[in-house]
Amino acid sequence: MKDLHVDTLCVQAGYKPQTGESRIPQICQSTTFFYGDTQKMADLFDLKAEGFFYSRLANPTVEALEKKVAALEGGAYGIGCASGMSAILLTAMTLCEAGDNIVAASEIYGGSYNLFAVTLPKFGIECRFFSAESSAEEIERLIDGKTKMLYAETVANPAITVLDFDKLSALSKKHGILFAVDNTLATPVLCRPLEWGAHLAIHSTTKYMDGHAAALGGMIVDGANFPFLNNPRYPAFNTPDESYHGLIYAQTALPFGTKCRAQMMRDTGAIMSPQNAFLTYLGSDTLALRMERHCKNAAAVAKFLSEHKKVEWVRHPSLPDDPNHARAKKYLPAGTGGMMSFGIKGNAKQCAKFMEALTLVTQETHVADVRSCVLHPASTTHRQLSEADLKAAGIPENLVRLSVGIERAEDIIADLSQALDAI
Ligand code: PLP
Repeated sequence: MKDLHVDTLCVQAGYKPQTGESRIPQICQSTTFFYGDTQKMADLFDLKAEGFFYSRLANPTVEALEKKVAALEGGAYGIGCASGMSAILLTAMTLCEAGDNIVAASEIYGGSYNLFAVTLPKFGIECRFFSAESSAEEIERLIDGKTKMLYAETVANPAITVLDFDKLSALSKKHGILFAVDNTLATPVLCRPLEWGAHLAIHSTTKYMDGHAAALGGMIVDGANFPFLNNPRYPAFNTPDESYHGLIYAQTALPFGTKCRAQMMRDTGAIMSPQNAFLTYLGSDTLALRMERHCKNAAAVAKFLSEHKKVEWVRHPSLPDDPNHARAKKYLPAGTGGMMSFGIKGNAKQCAKFMEALTLVTQETHVADVRSCVLHPASTTHRQLSEADLKAAGIPENLVRLSVGIERAEDIIADLSQALDAI
């Protein structure tokens, strides 16, 4: 499957039926699995054999999706999680212990920022933030011997900055630090982080991957391309895990994936549900087709907004004068996605007027599904942030986040136009 195009992988990778089996994965709604053989069961626990024993750790329907997303990302192994947030939390827990730190871009999803800035520090894990425009030297000053992860989003939500992969990848190589990328908004159809030096590609599958606002989920794809073995930065991977029969994760073929599932998924139970895996699997069949339309529509909408007199600014990398245009051409050549942000001339009041006048495009705490929707982050998803934090996250008061769906572009533009007239 390695040489197939991503469009083909969307419909062909993942589940492989045997003769007489269902063509698409079945929803395996079972918590546990039958074994008549004690040795087989012991081998499963020792990781000497592959199989299922309890759906808190792994489940056949979830595995079908894990295999598909891993193939889409060109990775080695997928771990399906209950949500995008649980995927990010499990990643941090697998890599860090109290006293460690994460060096992350500040232009990330508000929930991820909150996890890093507020919640993880309560467990002794510090997060140090850099901005998308920070130089390599500035980022380097945040790194020390306890840094366990470099973290950023391919296309940041909602700042719509495009990640400078080369800068982060060079730092990751120089310091021997794992580089994890949230690829939710780009999807593997537009960018594959593992091909640009990342070691983990993380998803909120709740977004484009499902695409229909039907199923919550997350995915971590392990590239199995990070040198954990004898890496002094990662003692927890190079010493026996007493909670797992003395296993030394760095000595396995999949150090991150094995530790994440055997230790952290076991201890948290943050696995995707079979029902959600099934819905996401179906949705992902059309991911490549949908992304093509999202990109085309968004480019047309961005052009319309950028020429409108009531709009102060538009951030979408398709626009030639967007600060991320050149970077997007390099890392996202097939398109820049359906997400954009724009500033209405005025303040939060004008934003509310505009949004309430919309009839087709709806107000939702969601992005990246087939239906166009808007949100005012400063008063909703990011309302817990202080003014300074909002500024650091690139979210001024007049910012409206717009997720362009797959309706006809003319209809979306007509609705935006009449709502702008209503201000
Ligand atoms: N990462 C990004 C880029 C997101 O946009 C989101 C949610 O909007 C998440 C992670 C969290 O995902 P979930 O809502 O599935 O927990």
